[in-house]
Amino acid sequence: MIKQAIIVQEDQPFTLASLSPSRPQRRLVLLVALALGALFIMAVQHSHIQLGRIDAFVPAYGTAIFVNDLITSVLLFNQFAILRSRALLAISNGYLFMALMVIPWMLTFPGLFTPNGLLGAGLQSTNWLAVLRYTGFPTAVIAYALLKDANRPNRWWERSLTATILSSAAMSAAVVCAMTVLVTAGDAYLPRISIDRVHFSTFLLYIASCLILLNAVALILLWIRQRSVLDLWLMVVVCVYAIEIYLVSFPGLARFSVGWYAGRVFGFVSSILVLFVLLYEITTLYAHLLRAVLAQRREREARLMTGDVVSASVAHEVKQPLTAIIASANAGLNWLDRVEPELDEVRRVLRRVVTAGRHADAVIENIRAHFKKSAQPRTSLDINDVIEEALAVVRDKLQTHRVAVQAAPNKRLPRIKGEQVQLQQVLLNLITNAIDSMATKNGERVLSIRSEVHHSGCVMVSVEDTGKGLEPGAMDRIFDPTFTTKAHGMGMGLSICRSIIEEHEGQLWVTADKGRGAVFQFTVPVDLGSASADLSNAFGQAL
Ligand code: ADP
Repeated sequence: MIKQAIIVQEDQPFTLASLSPSRPQRRLVLLVALALGALFIMAVQHSHIQLGRIDAFVPAYGTAIFVNDLITSVLLFNQFAILRSRALLAISNGYLFMALMVIPWMLTFPGLFTPNGLLGAGLQSTNWLAVLRYTGFPTAVIAYALLKDANRPNRWWERSLTATILSSAAMSAAVVCAMTVLVTAGDAYLPRISIDRVHFSTFLLYIASCLILLNAVALILLWIRQRSVLDLWLMVVVCVYAIEIYLVSFPGLARFSVGWYAGRVFGFVSSILVLFVLLYEITTLYAHLLRAVLAQRREREARLMTGDVVSASVAHEVKQPLTAIIASANAGLNWLDRVEPELDEVRRVLRRVVTAGRHADAVIENIRAHFKKSAQPRTSLDINDVIEEALAVVRDKLQTHRVAVQAAPNKRLPRIKGEQVQLQQVLLNLITNAIDSMATKNGERVLSIRSEVHHSGCVMVSVEDTGKGLEPGAMDRIFDPTFTTKAHGMGMGLSICRSIIEEHEGQLWVTADKGRGAVFQFTVPVDLGSASADLSNAFGQAL
């Protein structure tokens, strides 16, 4: 997976680590921070109350934060594999370190496995392992903040990406092992944080103050260098870790107090925050990717089908003059093969060959002009004009099939931005389909075309008919290329319409009731340039 990762420029806004936070994202982060702040204030008020030991609490808490931190680190390593940023490598290892340090902390926790904890450690090991764990995270965040603006790594990183990740992870694991060995073996020499299995000495207050200070430094650095969504959430995480350290240490100077339990809950929250955001980002990205792939596939199929249509048309149209050329050339040869060649006849058939050749040339040119994709730039358009022109093209057909048209222009619409010929092509397709559908049914034949402002802010056009409605089962496949229910249909119209509208960053959809006609609707974006000009004109007039 890592090997196949795509190298994305760091400034491309695809991932949490490179995406600039939008205003709603900033608001959400602020809201979460305020909510956690309020909870902290509530917890502080009762934090000194001593509770009993809940045996299941420490294993449950330890397992939860181990799993959270480990998954977060894997997801961040994955982001590193995409962006190749050393800052991300640092923070991924920070999370890995946090996850791995939980193991010795749990093993040495007094009373969890054995009264004095495993690994033969004394009373101080659990505390010092926790202190080291809480030193690791802000240190990783500081490294992350400092490396954020560093130059992009050289090619060595690209060549040995897997090795880079594995070796850095191994290094983190080695640091955890070394710390565990040193702390457990040197337990007797360590400054005393625990007085007994429950109470802490006042020395913890100095250590906790240093740790809170370290988190503050990490927060300030992140604040100064903040750029991405990840930075914002890391700032919240750093604050929550500081809260955890405060609650666990300051209020009662004892384990199993309200503050101690509340601190652990804050620890759990901080371990889950970035994980939630990463998972949300991955799901959203996946949905976008799926939509993009589907749109691309539809477009490709439509193109392929357009190719088929072009070749079928060329074959059909050119066959006739080619047959004439071959027949005339054969006749010419016969006139020449006579004992006395009939040169006048030969001249006559050769003229026929030339005429047929010119005709074939004109046919090919015609088809080419018809299918050539217009590369005209998008312009500011009045949708009413586009509708009017499309209706003018099909006026004869509408009259032949006795279709009444309701298409009052909506003069209050903003101008749109689009390619006139293509949008006209979409309307022509929808109107022709509507006429075809109504032509197969007796009774009232009314074509209504409405335009209005859609709730998305785009202009929406609806083409409604009183025809037979969609065939059963057609709803899901109607936009597929080659889907047709008409004897001489090609099934290309709607597929091409959809790709044109999607190219315009709009949407095309259908709603229908069998027997009551169909409503095709599409949206096209507003021309923002002319909309703001209209607004300033209106202001000007009002003043
Ligand atoms: P074609 O017109 O060549 O069949 P389209 O892609 O334009 O190709 O249309 C595909 C199919 O969608 C039609 O064959 C028809 O079954 C259905 N359809 C399109 N427009 C309408 C409509 N207004 N009412 C009922 N069915 C429609």
